[in-house]
Amino acid sequence: MTVYLVGAGPGAADLLTVRAVRILERAEVVVHDRLVETEVLDLVARGAEVHDVGKTPGGPDNQSAINALLVATARTGRTVVRLKGGDPFLFGRGGEELEALAEAGIDAEVVPGITSAFFAPLAAGIPVTHRGRSCGVAVVTARGCERDPELARLARADLTIVILMGVARRGAIARELIEGGLDPATPVAVVERASTPTERVQRSALGDLGSLRVAAPAVIVVGAVAALDLARGAVAAASAR
Ligand code: SAH
Repeated sequence: MTVYLVGAGPGAADLLTVRAVRILERAEVVVHDRLVETEVLDLVARGAEVHDVGKTPGGPDNQSAINALLVATARTGRTVVRLKGGDPFLFGRGGEELEALAEAGIDAEVVPGITSAFFAPLAAGIPVTHRGRSCGVAVVTARGCERDPELARLARADLTIVILMGVARRGAIARELIEGGLDPATPVAVVERASTPTERVQRSALGDLGSLRVAAPAVIVVGAVAALDLARGAVAAASAR
């Protein structure tokens, strides 16, 4: 009895790992999130039972129901795949699901996925670190940590900040970072629906982030590298389908 916790990557099916594809092809039960694209679900074995347990932002927290579903379906002896957008361990609550499975005595295997935190900047031609511009990258959610909700502590000109789940709070994010010491002219890139046919990249300055029109899901990249657009054409060509 093994449940596979599989990263679905940012959207495009050809960004799945080979391991993920092999597991999807023999899945008997698939439990997936809202951000998993149809073309990835198309790879699931015919006849598999598919559960969409996608949460809407701000909607009810159904995590314990998801955990119970994983445990119950695994106990029927079928091959269960929990398919999560991007990488299962980055803001995906994959760790909590593993804990629930372990508590129920069910083995689990994690298959990594390409995270939107790194794919979205790449799709825009932005290297998250780049000599002379950025010596590191912090991946955060708009709300920071429970214990320390300050984004401002990351306000350093030599750091790239990649923000997930930040669309609704983009104005406040910009204010916090500027109050923390970042120049309002700091470059920003916003990448919506990376790797999907409706991918869109917008660039602005941190001071103008609040007034950009943005639709979720999107990744916000803040820092000097966000002004770069290296080999964007090459990336697009490589993923052309
Ligand atoms: N585990 C996922 C992240 C889950 S949190 C991962 O590794 O990618 C959900 C957030 O991820 C969204 O609010 C958005 O910020 C980001 N996201 C996921 N897929 C995306 C995509 N295709 N394009 C842009 N942002 C995406």
